[in-house]
Amino acid sequence: MVTEGPALLDARRARQVAEQVPDPELPMLTLADLGVLRDVEVAADGTVVAGLTPTYSGCPAMAEMRADVAARLREAGYPRVEIRTVLDPPWTSDWITEPGRRKLAEHDIAPPGAAPRGPVPLVLSPTRPAVPCPRCGSADTEETSRFAATSCKALWRCRACREPFEYVKEI
Ligand SMILES: [Zn+2]
Repeated sequence: MVTEGPALLDARRARQVAEQVPDPELPMLTLADLGVLRDVEVAADGTVVAGLTPTYSGCPAMAEMRADVAARLREAGYPRVEIRTVLDPPWTSDWITEPGRRKLAEHDIAPPGAAPRGPVPLVLSPTRPAVPCPRCGSADTEETSRFAATSCKALWRCRACREPFEYVKEI
């Protein structure tokens, strides 16, 4: 049990270290921006226990993320680190914070729209909400590839400024 002041302070410091770890696939975002860092505790024996929620299913970045958090915490003076996977509640793209969305837009990446709620009806020609161009703001855009370099992003193109851009999918 973490009850004493120093342990709580220590947990807060450990959390700050873990929060600043960048996402391997969206390196302009920290784990805090992504909203994947659930809890950080320091056990009585000094072990830091950090809970992470996986993002896009099958996203290979998760293993890297875990390793990065453990490495940063060790560098910060916590030799014993345990990373737990927290599956419930499942992550949705709504957990990306406002600062995180701003950083995506600053990097010409369109942030995700509102996550779908409840069962998603299976339709052959889904009507997708327009994704505004992160460069010029035009809504005259089209998807060119459902899968960009990573599973969490799709490739879009703006018909107004003719620039391609990446779009973080909502889930
Ligand atoms: Zn544009």
